[in-house]
Amino acid sequence: MNINTNENYVPPMQFIAGRWRTGGDGVVGMVVNPANDEVLAEIPRASKQDLDDALAAAQNAFSLWRMKSAHERAAVLRRAAALLRERVSSIAMRMTLEQGKTLPEARLEVELSAETFDWYAAEALRVHGRVMPSRVRGARQMVLPQPLGPVAAFTPWNFPALLPARKIAPALAAGCTMVMKPSEETPSSALALAEALADAGLPAGVLNMVLGVPAEVSAHLIASPAIRKVTFTGSTEVGRTLARLAAEGVKPCTLELGGHAPVLIFDDADLERTVATCITGKTRNAGQVCTSPTRFLVQAGVYDRFVAAFSQAMNRLVIGDGMAADSQMGPLANRRRLKAVEDMVNGAVGAGAKVLAGGERQGSSGSFFRPTVLVGTPPDATVMRNEPFGPLALVDCFDSLEEGLALANNTPYGLAAYAFTRSAETAVAVSEGLEAGGIGINSFAVSHIEAPFGGLKDSGYGHEGGSEGLEAFMHQKYVHHA
Ligand code: NAD
Repeated sequence: MNINTNENYVPPMQFIAGRWRTGGDGVVGMVVNPANDEVLAEIPRASKQDLDDALAAAQNAFSLWRMKSAHERAAVLRRAAALLRERVSSIAMRMTLEQGKTLPEARLEVELSAETFDWYAAEALRVHGRVMPSRVRGARQMVLPQPLGPVAAFTPWNFPALLPARKIAPALAAGCTMVMKPSEETPSSALALAEALADAGLPAGVLNMVLGVPAEVSAHLIASPAIRKVTFTGSTEVGRTLARLAAEGVKPCTLELGGHAPVLIFDDADLERTVATCITGKTRNAGQVCTSPTRFLVQAGVYDRFVAAFSQAMNRLVIGDGMAADSQMGPLANRRRLKAVEDMVNGAVGAGAKVLAGGERQGSSGSFFRPTVLVGTPPDATVMRNEPFGPLALVDCFDSLEEGLALANNTPYGLAAYAFTRSAETAVAVSEGLEAGGIGINSFAVSHIEAPFGGLKDSGYGHEGGSEGLEAFMHQKYVHHA
């Protein structure tokens, strides 16, 4: 195998008990640049010994880390945030090389990760317990929030810095330690977070990074008595498997899973702004976002105008290597994704859908797929039931608010849902009526660090972000002092 010695890419290593190490069981595969199919590096494969060492390190470090004051923990997170900001260019470049997203998107993601560290550094200082009126004079009745213990965390390839940051920052702020398995396909950003934390003074063993065969690693970590909490972001299918493993040990679990987000576009929407917002929202990270808008439901009065303007704008987008300054959308993250998106489009067209933009690959090297608009996709087509996770927009028409809401809610998912309208009354009705964890009105921004983020139905349970994201790593201890 020819490994490209790209000077901007650092081969991944595991980080266990404060030391970098190769895979005890050799190599599990290759990191590949999805823009040109070049092999960037080998991926280390953890041995059972590596995993046991990481578990022991997290368990040993817990007794030390939980006893640090919240101020000390916050100081480490803040220093790490500053280091991430200093290193944004090199981290973002590696992210684009291995994941494909455009360089500005990668830079923004690293900056948001630094913000996440800062936000939870501040939130660590706001972990208040409570004292209640006691039943007996002179007694004390108190609730003391306490860290749950060592956490097993699993993150995917689509936001390789931000999704790890949204688990690491609150867990460490709460006083927990962690063994994380980032995505093998895009490991460099999570490893850069670990490096920044270590350089910021994080004690050895508080955060450990392992890489290997996902199913082997997760089964081994979750079964360990050392682990007290499981957190996963990824597909619903894998989430179900990890929830079962966690249930075996009665371990609390946070699951951020897939979505199939509807967008209701009402007759009274500002059409020009709506089309522009839909283009940016749909093509962000080539549609590989769990909150990506996928089902565009357009009210009859503006349907024709929306479809024409949206398809034209999708057709005009410049798709190319994320490193190129003029690229508006990069490739899909891997060949697997490319085939899945192509199969979904072909399946929909076979079932009667019409392609108004894209619908095919671009070029013969790299995982490029043209931004695609489909109309008339039958409800039983695979793409209507499975998360598209690509630059696909499925456009349909509705008449009344009630019909729009019924169509919007008609999937097993419930992560994000959107509406575009100038009517305050309609905005209230959709905010109440859409079944999703996050609702965007005239906006696709439903994930801010200060707010809870989480799904309903097959989209998972529990929250990240906000004070809820920190509480997810704590238990509430009740003390009655007579
Ligand atoms: P996948 O399910 O094979 O992998 C998704 C992630 O989960 C990867 O990082 C992988 O390493 C990890 N994973 C897989 N099996 C695991 C296991 N047994 N234990 C621990 N981790 C495991 O999926 P894929 O082919 O990469 O993508 C398929 C679908 O997953 C996508 O179409 C999309 O619907 C969904 N997905 C969702 C998100 C999200 O942010 N919610 C992210 C990535 C993928």
